[in-house]
Amino acid sequence: MSGGGTSGDSRPEHYRCVGVGVGPANLSLASLLYGKPQMTNLFLDRKDRFGWHDGQQIAGAKLQVSLLKDLVTLSDPTSRFSFLSYLHEHGRIYHFVNAQFDSVPRQEFRNYLAWASRINENVVFGEEVLGIEFEHVFTVHTSRRVVTAENIVVGVGNQPWVPEPARGQLGGTQFHVSDYAERSADLAGKRVAVVGGGQSGAEAFLELISRPPAALPRRVTWISRRRNYFPIDDTPFTNEYYVPSYSDYFFELERPTRIALNEQNVLTSDGISEATLREVYQRCYTRRFIEGSADLFALLPNRTVTEVRADRGGWDLTVTGNDDPGQVEHVEADHVVWATGFRSAPTDFLAPIAHRLGREGEEFRVDRDFAVEWDGPRNRSVFLQNGARGQRGLADPNLSLVAWRSQRILDRLLGVVSNDQLDSFIGWSAKQRSAELRGA
Ligand SMILES: Cc1cc2nc3c(=O)[nH]c(=O)nc-3n(C[C@H](O)[C@H](O)[C@H](O)COP(=O)(O)OP(=O)(O)OC[C@H]3O[C@@H](n4cnc5c(N)ncnc54)[C@H](O)[C@@H]3O)c2cc1C
Repeated sequence: MSGGGTSGDSRPEHYRCVGVGVGPANLSLASLLYGKPQMTNLFLDRKDRFGWHDGQQIAGAKLQVSLLKDLVTLSDPTSRFSFLSYLHEHGRIYHFVNAQFDSVPRQEFRNYLAWASRINENVVFGEEVLGIEFEHVFTVHTSRRVVTAENIVVGVGNQPWVPEPARGQLGGTQFHVSDYAERSADLAGKRVAVVGGGQSGAEAFLELISRPPAALPRRVTWISRRRNYFPIDDTPFTNEYYVPSYSDYFFELERPTRIALNEQNVLTSDGISEATLREVYQRCYTRRFIEGSADLFALLPNRTVTEVRADRGGWDLTVTGNDDPGQVEHVEADHVVWATGFRSAPTDFLAPIAHRLGREGEEFRVDRDFAVEWDGPRNRSVFLQNGARGQRGLADPNLSLVAWRSQRILDRLLGVVSNDQLDSFIGWSAKQRSAELRGA
């Protein structure tokens, strides 16, 4: 392992930087740190081996962002950890070009990420971080050992979330979509309800109604709280929300404005890809009008599931209309797939130092460099990746700014300032415009 060095005595290995979690966020930083011997580093993940939403590697699923939004390219296009480098190393770069994918298959991007984790010996799996203390340096207790670190980078991502009616009922015939691959195999002839109108719900619904006759469910009902099955807005000016200068602009706004913006703009990140929507609609057309399965699917947006009760070996879902809460329907299902999203994963391992860390609402409060504000020395930091959506906006959990955010953390660790790319075409505010005109 580059760096850490076990000393001859019983002192723990010491690193300049220890990362907790190895998803795309921390893997990006590990990639940018690679080959910088002065920045000894170690990245730990509790999973036995790399995975990226493996339970949702549904056939045909595609990446929702440009392939250039990989681990490194937007910060360091010369890095050996780019997606193109992966293709080249595997001898398939011409095939990839000729395949003319509209978007990268999600499985291929996952394989790229797995490769990046494999070729970096500072990335270790099967080791959970259990607790972090601080006295001059951080002491990191893992499921296998104790190490010390000058800086910590938390990148523990999100965990599945279900609404109240599903809580305490998961397991068996009700499951979160993150377990789809494992739990959805045997649904032939069953009534299935998919709850959730985002990309994950759309992919599950599409996969279910696309199965060959022997594996086809009897009926698939797709329920969504949103008023319709809305697309993700992937147009150029909307994508200006997903560039570094907007992230910095957003960060300076008052909290109520930030909360409102995240609510208003949610479909810029959480809507359904246009290609998926087209495929869903075409499959519905084919099933109903060409093949004559009049009853295979039901589309019920603009409704909220308010209760789920066990009923004759299956489930009875009480569904309330959004426009008229008095309008109640019942959906009978043998299986329920909850595609209702994710929320921040727990950071219990920070408990010993949590009282020293600043907070904003449910988040740790970060500074411009994604370091959590705290009462410790400035050259000892806890950085937070994908944990500041309320402070940094909708791009925070997304792949768009992963390389840039890692670069900013790396700059802080190295005490340098990398050149940012040019500002957005859009002047986001009068204040920002007048600063530009003054040449500030
Ligand atoms: C199905 C799906 C598809 C997506 N597709 C896209 C897309 O196309 N484009 C896009 O921009 N975004 C996409 N996203 C959103 C985003 O890219 C992902 O959620 C991304 O995985 C977030 O990366 P992360 O590194 O922050 O967290 P994660 O990928 O969740 O990784 C966190 C890691 O931390 C580990 N961990 C947690 N606690 C500990 C601990 N105590 N000790 C050690 N390890 C720990 C976990 O095991 C996990 O491996 C998608 C999300 C989902 C669910």
